[in-house]
Amino acid sequence: MKNLCLTLFFLFFISSCNDNNDCCPDLPENDDVIIPLSVYEKVYGVTSQIYIQGEYVYINTNGVPDHKSPYFPLDHILYEAYDGSNPFVNNWNKNPNGITTLNLRFKIPIRPKKGSSSTPTSMGPIGVSLNGVPFYNQYAGMNQPLTREINSFDQGNGHPAPIAPGQENGVDGRYHYHMEPILTTKEKGRNVIIGFLLDGFPVYGPEENGNIIISSELDNYHGHSHATSDFPEGIYHYHLTADDPYLNGSGYYGTPGTVSQ
Ligand SMILES: [Zn+2]
Ligand SMILES: [Zn+2]
Repeated sequence: MKNLCLTLFFLFFISSCNDNNDCCPDLPENDDVIIPLSVYEKVYGVTSQIYIQGEYVYINTNGVPDHKSPYFPLDHILYEAYDGSNPFVNNWNKNPNGITTLNLRFKIPIRPKKGSSSTPTSMGPIGVSLNGVPFYNQYAGMNQPLTREINSFDQGNGHPAPIAPGQENGVDGRYHYHMEPILTTKEKGRNVIIGFLLDGFPVYGPEENGNIIISSELDNYHGHSHATSDFPEGIYHYHLTADDPYLNGSGYYGTPGTVSQ
């Protein structure tokens, strides 16, 4: 591919091209992508139909995972004790929260654009994954790394936070993923769209063209631009990686929409 790019570059260069970005099909300008409803509809864990109004898509979910978890009540059909299968967990340690049905309402720009300045992510939902469970950023608390929290991640690689600070009661909680939702990628593939961040840019799994992406291959926001099967014209996208910061780096690449919960 590199050789092809170089060849194309020289072909265009010879024909008096003066903008490198127009020369290589792998490095498209991507500020004019409108994400169609059909791509957003890959999010299947919804509580009402996904719809577009004006410049935004509206996605409503209840934040409850569709896979088994030790964080469901014992009598729940999806309750399953931790099964030791999460490769990121060294020393399983269940946290004192449970999974609660929520009312998450995401409002996400359908024409994602690079922000003029970066907007930091906040604690709480920063995006939505395919099964409707929200993505959270790479911190356990204010700039605290996830290191210790990872041991509370279940077989799906998620865990619940207290409904509100100090309300750890073993029953209620807000389930979320900071990292690759490993049961979702196992089912859907590790090289496909796994969700969206609030700025509208898609999140892809950790695999691309047969390679496993690592954070150092991505920019500060934890993404890059190129053509994908969903966007042959090219688009900026984030990647889930196994190494810190896992999903997002120093804030949103674009201007974020909103989420209410
Ligand atoms: Zn968390
Ligand atoms: Zn990529």
